[in-house]
Amino acid sequence: MSDAGYELEYIHDAFAKNWIAPLGENVTEFENSMKSWMGAEYAVALSSGTGALHLSMLLAGVSKEDKVFCQDLTFAASANPIAYVDAVPVFIDSERETWNMDPVALENAIQQYGVPKAVVVVHLYGNPAKMDEICRICEKYGIILIEDAAEALGSTYHGQKCGTFGEYGILSFNGNKIITTSGGGMLLCKKEADAMHALKLATQAREAFPWYQHTEIGYNYRMSNICAGIGRGQMKVLTERVALKRAIYQRYKENLQELPLSLQPMPGNAVSNCWLTTAIIQDGYDITSIKMVSALSACDIESRPLWKPMHAQPVFAEAGYVTAGHESVSEDLFRRGICLPSDTKMKMEDVDRVCEVIRSLF
Ligand SMILES: *Cc1c(COP(=O)(O)O)cnc(C)c1O
Repeated sequence: MSDAGYELEYIHDAFAKNWIAPLGENVTEFENSMKSWMGAEYAVALSSGTGALHLSMLLAGVSKEDKVFCQDLTFAASANPIAYVDAVPVFIDSERETWNMDPVALENAIQQYGVPKAVVVVHLYGNPAKMDEICRICEKYGIILIEDAAEALGSTYHGQKCGTFGEYGILSFNGNKIITTSGGGMLLCKKEADAMHALKLATQAREAFPWYQHTEIGYNYRMSNICAGIGRGQMKVLTERVALKRAIYQRYKENLQELPLSLQPMPGNAVSNCWLTTAIIQDGYDITSIKMVSALSACDIESRPLWKPMHAQPVFAEAGYVTAGHESVSEDLFRRGICLPSDTKMKMEDVDRVCEVIRSLF
């Protein structure tokens, strides 16, 4: 059956059973199948990954003026929820082996700013961060680890699924992610009490009274039964999608071998879902990522620079930023890095064509 077939079946089911309300079988089934696919203890389906990050902040007890250390090289959605709870972000530089949070910079930040309430680590473009080191540091200081696995659904580290390492893990099913519910997210957690609390906060924080009674501020973050129907359908193509993404990465790797481009490195203990194939232009070439993006665009090929580091964003100009003691890695990656077209609808010939255009630039 085509991709859309499964989704339509579950959506139809939701209508047939008159379960269009933000409750119902699709939500429970989507949560259950994700939970078992991930090997997670608890899962709460939400309207976005950003909402899941916001709830993680609340569950972690992050509040006004608490410090939260967040990966510097990421999408703004990783960092914005720190501001939602009036906490203070400090951005942590990346290392070159995975492009994610540098454990040495994390230790430096603790020495410099003290122990934060929480750490937000990201598996950039699906590539697992150095979780052994980061988990060890968080355990040592008693820091709550929030794992932003929005881009890393299907990635593993020592065989364990990304999103299940932190006290809280978050997934995204936004339109551009590896699977989509048109828009949606999920919070993974280890304690039943946290899952119950997240569910309550996501549904306007209603207390168990016959009337509408509230003792804390609530949100409207629950996933709808229609979106969850799409999610149930998408679960059936998830494994295949990851395989396709990885095949695209492999094709780029073979093609770009003789060119002065280095793909995002994949450490031996981890398997990336290769959500996006990304690369940096090697040193000594007079080509920036911006130049390469416009050259590709002239051939009708859409590409992007890497995420612009958070410490360099005007909105976070006041925030702290800590490196491992050398010059900024995230800035260097941003200057030289590019996200290559990686849509699973691409054919291998399409990948080859992108590589031909890149080849013509050197
Ligand atoms: C997409 C994304 C999010 C946010 O997910 P939404 O579902 O779009 O709110 C958070 N973090 C990262 C790294 C992302 O790529």
